[in-house]
Amino acid sequence: MSNLQISIKGKSFDPGRIFCIGKNYGEHIKELGGQTPEEPVVFMKPVSNIVAPGETLSMPRHGNLLHHEVEVVLLIGREGQDISESNALSYISGVTLGLDLTLRDIQLQLKKKGLPWELSKSFEQSAPLGHFKAYDSQSIDLQNLSFSCSVNGELRQQGNTRDMLFPVKSLIHTLSGWWTLKPGDIVFTGTPAGVGPLKAGDRVDIESPATGSFSWTLGT
Ligand code: ZN
Repeated sequence: MSNLQISIKGKSFDPGRIFCIGKNYGEHIKELGGQTPEEPVVFMKPVSNIVAPGETLSMPRHGNLLHHEVEVVLLIGREGQDISESNALSYISGVTLGLDLTLRDIQLQLKKKGLPWELSKSFEQSAPLGHFKAYDSQSIDLQNLSFSCSVNGELRQQGNTRDMLFPVKSLIHTLSGWWTLKPGDIVFTGTPAGVGPLKAGDRVDIESPATGSFSWTLGT
């Protein structure tokens, strides 16, 4: 999907980087037995891992426990560094949902050894991503956005962005202190509780009243 183009109100964006935030919901930290971070936990996925809605996902070959993590995803619309929280929302052009697919068995091994997370988070097709909807603060409240994930019609995750430990404004502020944010950058904002395994043949649906719904099927 290297030729993936994102279009918002007639303006097109080349996807730049995918920033992912870990441990941003208290109940999810509890279910994995982790510690509450003092600043946002950031990792990245390559843009080539994006999978458009409706495409078939393949089970990764190097792990066994493939977990769904539904997340609200932001599209950065303009360049910025050291962005203040009060200006942060004006840097966002689009919003959608995505799946931060995770090989949990591999991640546990890597965590134990103190190794980087790429094998568990950045494998092929690890970033199923919905279509971006134009963001404007009048019609979408990013800090009160409900969203969910179902597998084969059974509700697995239900979240609301008001439960974020680091709200969107804070994430943009912090990320822009560490990197120069650029148009086309994408931010996965963390997953609520209820993560769980997927198996071949499963159908995953993610949805929010603010973004619509998107689905993927797992092949073998
Ligand atoms: Zn995640």
